[in-house]
Amino acid sequence: MPRPPSEGPWRDRYGPRTGQFAGDHHGLDIGDEAGTLLVAPADCTLIDYGPVPGWSAHGRVARLLDKDGWEHWLSHTDRLVPGRAVGDTLREGDPIAYQGVTGLTSGRHVHWETRKDGARLDPEAWLARPQSGTDTPFTPEPEEDDDMDRISYARDKTQGSAGTVWAVDLLKGTRRAVTPGEWDTIRATIPGVQLAEIPTARLATIPIGS
Ligand SMILES: [Zn+2]
Repeated sequence: MPRPPSEGPWRDRYGPRTGQFAGDHHGLDIGDEAGTLLVAPADCTLIDYGPVPGWSAHGRVARLLDKDGWEHWLSHTDRLVPGRAVGDTLREGDPIAYQGVTGLTSGRHVHWETRKDGARLDPEAWLARPQSGTDTPFTPEPEEDDDMDRISYARDKTQGSAGTVWAVDLLKGTRRAVTPGEWDTIRATIPGVQLAEIPTARLATIPIGS
């Protein structure tokens, strides 16, 4: 039986969200401070580990390919477990990596994405799908490239309401300053949009770009 990669509590689910990282959420966030071990959600191969070019917000990502052709991305990880290496064949439940806070993250958890043919599917739907041998075709959502998908808004935690609002591009891993007038417009057009209050040290790791 396929399983989630972590025993931890489910936090943000797949789909639209209005929390501090407003926009569409393309994964399932699982975990907390306590549960740290990430395991294979199915029989699979570890095909890559580390930062993914263009996806720096994901931090260090363990990328798995399961026997039915699904890719699993486990993001924000800290490091591989001892002895684990890219190319390893894994049985479901085998340990892979420790969860962490790498990349742009609201806290310690794993952001789990399931992907096939360049499109993403809700990991909950992946868990619920028929098992191997009767794998019915899904219609995964195509990856979109609109701003709602990739921009989060953040402010330096220590500066509070006096601080600059930054638009963080989750795909490029860069940020740009938002003028007060622009922020008023954003709040008027994206109901429920909120600001991530990010520690100074973490904000400083996001380079300023376009
Ligand atoms: Zn997430």
